[in-house]
Amino acid sequence: ATKSLLGELNGGGASRPHVMFIPSAGMGHLLPFFRFIASLARHDDDVDISVVTVLPTVSAAEADHFSGLFAAFPRVRRVDFPSHDRDPFIVRWEALRRSAHLIGPLIAGAAPRVSAVITDVTLTSHVIPIAKKLGVQCHVLFISCATIKKAEQGPGAGVGAVDIPGVRRIPESCLPQPLLDLNKQFTKQFIDNGRENINADGILVNTFDALEPAALAALRDGKVVPGFPFPPVYAIGPLRSVVDKEDSSSSSPVVAWLDKQPARSVVYVAFGNRSAVSHAHIREIAAGLEASGCRFLWVLKTTKVDRDDTAELTDVLGEGFLERLHQQQGQGQGQHGMVTKEWVDQEALLKHASVGLYLSHSGWNSVTEAAAAGVPLLAWPRGGDHRVNHWSWDGEDWLVTGEEIAEKVKEVMSDAAVRARATRTGEEAAMAVAEGGTSYRSMQQFVSSLKKAT
Ligand code: UDP
Ligand code: UDP
Repeated sequence: ATKSLLGELNGGGASRPHVMFIPSAGMGHLLPFFRFIASLARHDDDVDISVVTVLPTVSAAEADHFSGLFAAFPRVRRVDFPSHDRDPFIVRWEALRRSAHLIGPLIAGAAPRVSAVITDVTLTSHVIPIAKKLGVQCHVLFISCATIKKAEQGPGAGVGAVDIPGVRRIPESCLPQPLLDLNKQFTKQFIDNGRENINADGILVNTFDALEPAALAALRDGKVVPGFPFPPVYAIGPLRSVVDKEDSSSSSPVVAWLDKQPARSVVYVAFGNRSAVSHAHIREIAAGLEASGCRFLWVLKTTKVDRDDTAELTDVLGEGFLERLHQQQGQGQGQHGMVTKEWVDQEALLKHASVGLYLSHSGWNSVTEAAAAGVPLLAWPRGGDHRVNHWSWDGEDWLVTGEEIAEKVKEVMSDAAVRARATRTGEEAAMAVAEGGTSYRSMQQFVSSLKKAT
């Protein structure tokens, strides 16, 4: 409806100007951009407008305002910044890496003098060279299992198969998809970090000898990179919580609910802290849990970043589901269920006597917590490298039906052999970290290596 000022000025003959906005981040920067873009769009519809949108945004408010702008002005083109990873956690790693040059002075200036640095596997290619230059030991705390992977350059441009010496060879088709593209920054960093690992002074792994004997033996036997000595591998897990808590969480409604359930009767359902579950899957899980006839405690997250998770349980699950749970509870019927969106103390919950099974995305921390608690784990690998364990890759989100979920849950809940194995794993975990155990001794060796270097 607006008049074309430019059209008038140019006598109608000139070509349409196209303005591309490249805003920065922060609401204080974005709001004036959004407002100016709106003002220009209202002023003259003979100007083409594009807005470069860096994904992900830093805050939920930014995301909302971007959506608001594009909704209000459909003709304003949205140009997604292509080189950026959408995953906010990867963006944070990137930011850390780009500031890596500041780590040297930080280490050098610390008092008392730093004798060793311990870093994350996503940062090794930057941190290890800096530590070496300063004559400081550098160890890697590996947050996943002991199956540290060795990437081989395959024929052509691909990554090729990945050999896990002493364990198995994973064909390229089973690797996480983001790792197949060697041009991706993430893949390059992943490979750089992998190569740098052999220069570490030690690798600390959250595992224990009885849990991964083959992988640990292979790592210690120098089979990983033939001809190169692999750093000492310290299996120091399962790592336990920061505070020793006897009943620090007993006041929570979740624990109060668990207290009322019979021993080993509850299926604990959780998919880690950053695995968003699609709404379609949530409905299948709900149907599956209901059909299994088992009691369940479901920690439900619908987004990757908790602050983005504003969905109401009733909207996600449907009124009927929650109503039926409450009714059953009221009538004292067999099945009781609880769904929460809160952050729970999962490590403590898994140790609760009422928990009989963990339906898990099998993130490594969760696996070690289940192992320590002696709770059987029904693995549902969902993303990242989790599906390497699965031997197949069926696209980003394939639907597992409620019937399948119910069937598997019932099967594992009633399997005495599985339960016995899980109990034994729990005992082995306790032995590993107890005085004189394998993980205890690994920790001793690690500490004495630090003392030798100081
Ligand atoms: N603003 C807003 N709602 C808020 C916070 C900020 O609309 O909850 C707007 C505020 O009106 C201003 C802009 O965001 O136009 C920048 O706010 P501020 O100066 O606090 O942010 P900074 O520039 O420090 O990022
Ligand atoms: N966790 C928790 N409460 C929650 C969600 C997650 O304590 O509400 C903990 C969980 O016990 C585990 C970690 O967060 O220690 C998640 O790590 P994991 O390796 O299992 O999976 P990721 O979230 O990294 O995929």
